Amino acid sequence: MRAIVLHGVKDLKFHSDYPEPQLQSPTDVKIKVDYCGICGSDLHEYLDGPIFFKNKRNEISNKENIQCMGHEMCGEIVELGAKANPEYKIGQKVVVAPTGTCLDRPRFPDAPNANKQPCNACSEGSYNACDYIGFTGLGFEDGGFGDYCVVGDNHIVPYPSSVIPVDVAALIEPLAVAWHAVRVAKLKEGESALVLGAGPIGLVMILALKAHKAGNIVVSEPAAGRRQLAESFGVQTFDPTNYKSTDQAVTALKKLTNDGFGFHHSFDCSGIPISFEVSLKALRTTGVATNVAIWPEKPVDYFPMEITLHERTINGSMCHTREDFVNVVKAFEAKLVDIDQVRTLITGIVPVEEGIEKGFNELINHKEKHIKILVSPRHAN
Ligand SMILES: [Zn+2]
Ligand SMILES: [Zn+2]
Repeated sequence: MRAIVLHGVKDLKFHSDYPEPQLQSPTDVKIKVDYCGICGSDLHEYLDGPIFFKNKRNEISNKENIQCMGHEMCGEIVELGAKANPEYKIGQKVVVAPTGTCLDRPRFPDAPNANKQPCNACSEGSYNACDYIGFTGLGFEDGGFGDYCVVGDNHIVPYPSSVIPVDVAALIEPLAVAWHAVRVAKLKEGESALVLGAGPIGLVMILALKAHKAGNIVVSEPAAGRRQLAESFGVQTFDPTNYKSTDQAVTALKKLTNDGFGFHHSFDCSGIPISFEVSLKALRTTGVATNVAIWPEKPVDYFPMEITLHERTINGSMCHTREDFVNVVKAFEAKLVDIDQVRTLITGIVPVEEGIEKGFNELINHKEKHIKILVSPRHAN
């Protein structure tokens, strides 16, 4: 099949005859890919890796670290294992919940550690924080930048294509990241929220907050184009470059809340020392800061009394669970998410043959022009 395959850091190749993934376990499902979004973590792995491809073979699946990439995919069921969930049907449109964790060990009985006990996170139901987390298309097994992929039946979520257009369905995965963050934050209807950064994750964060009926939503973003996009979603924006110091910016941000005391919630979607500081200081008493960003391995300075004096909380939100995908699909069905707004995040659709040049390299070289580029095996060259 056609596939975009990572051979190593800065070594991505298009194959026209990559081996088509086959059902391996009786609960497996084979999917013909419709669309698959290129994610920041794909670029990160390609340019600065190895991150998810550190070992020659994956701890859980025992698959080799040369894989077809892509984890934000939607497609159609073309083959079902004999023991796959009988609710699923050939031809059904589905999105993939791409985590690979200890809970997937039964799919790979021949892997050397197949009988190992689940890690702490997996044994307590938080498999999204698994010690060995990998993703379909990111270390765990072949992903969605190809014609087909095979996943366990507990990783697919059906969606109605009459409600969610097939291209928009590729955005369900990033939306699930934001849905998970709202859940971790325990945000209640009407509470105010500050989003730091309006990149791909910051923008889906806005859509998730609106769907959860957050009150006042303010988005802080230095790039004018991204602020404009955030404004088109009907939220207030803030340009942090207008202020000389972080404290001045924090004072101005607090004034944007109804009573001027600060935000109930902040969601850091930037992952830089200043966003961390603001995410904490712009909160009101008992406010909750939730980190959604992926940070480089460098410490950040902060004053712990910023938490204690105001009884604030710092949270971390780690990717998503299948439940978050189900909730995103339900939100589309309940019209809590605007299809047209989601579609504005798609800034390009490229055929799989051109995915490296017009997808990966385009995102790297023209970052300011793009939010999400989808790779599609459906589109002819
Ligand atoms: Zn991703
Ligand atoms: Zn685990």
